[in-house]
Amino acid sequence: MYESERRELADSLSMKGIDDIYVLKAIGEVERHKFVPAGLRNHAYKDAALPIGFGQTISQPYTVAFMTQAMKLEPNSKVLEIGTGSGYQAAILFNMGMKVYSIERQMDILHATQKLFDKMGIRVYTKYGDGTIGWDEFAPYDGIVVTAGSPSVPPSLMKQLAPGGRLVIPVGDKNIQTLKIVMKTEEGTFITEDIPEFKFVPLIGREGWKEK
Ligand code: SAH
Repeated sequence: MYESERRELADSLSMKGIDDIYVLKAIGEVERHKFVPAGLRNHAYKDAALPIGFGQTISQPYTVAFMTQAMKLEPNSKVLEIGTGSGYQAAILFNMGMKVYSIERQMDILHATQKLFDKMGIRVYTKYGDGTIGWDEFAPYDGIVVTAGSPSVPPSLMKQLAPGGRLVIPVGDKNIQTLKIVMKTEEGTFITEDIPEFKFVPLIGREGWKEK
């Protein structure tokens, strides 16, 4: 189902500047309609964020593609995602052959998404908890992608990055964020690149926004 729509979505992202062929291939293959609520299936291949319930959203395909591309991953890289949500970003990474670890702080969302992963044969290591402190047990990671907006870059995530690895995280106030690409050099220093104007739901946790 929706095969031509998926191909058109990948083509449209290529036109918008996504040039990593492995990312475009994954966008063309992963069935995004399975990650959105049933009533929104017909909108699944528009380049737009959609509500998934629980006050959360599935990220816009362009944003997923851009963040994935920004990590500059090799096949078989170890990737940590913060904010499992619908599971679409994790599914894109899994499709690309990455070893994926993903943390979600809302139990009901994680349960629903884990069920979907099982049904679709998507093997992602998931954990319920606060992703702002990372997942030390499996560190270091070649890539870390944070899919919720943070007031600052959590030090724990910088620590858990492998030398040569990249952390991609939206940082700013609750309405608008700058996408930061933080690269750890082989010497353990950091180089940061800023890309303006992204919009995410808030990252809530010990090294993120405080819960009200
Ligand atoms: N990657 C998701 C985007 C989900 S929206 C996708 O592809 O659909 C962001 C998610 O981050 C929400 O589900 C929210 O509950 C979760 N979140 C917010 N703060 C978090 C934290 N500290 N740790 C883990 N997950 C968090």
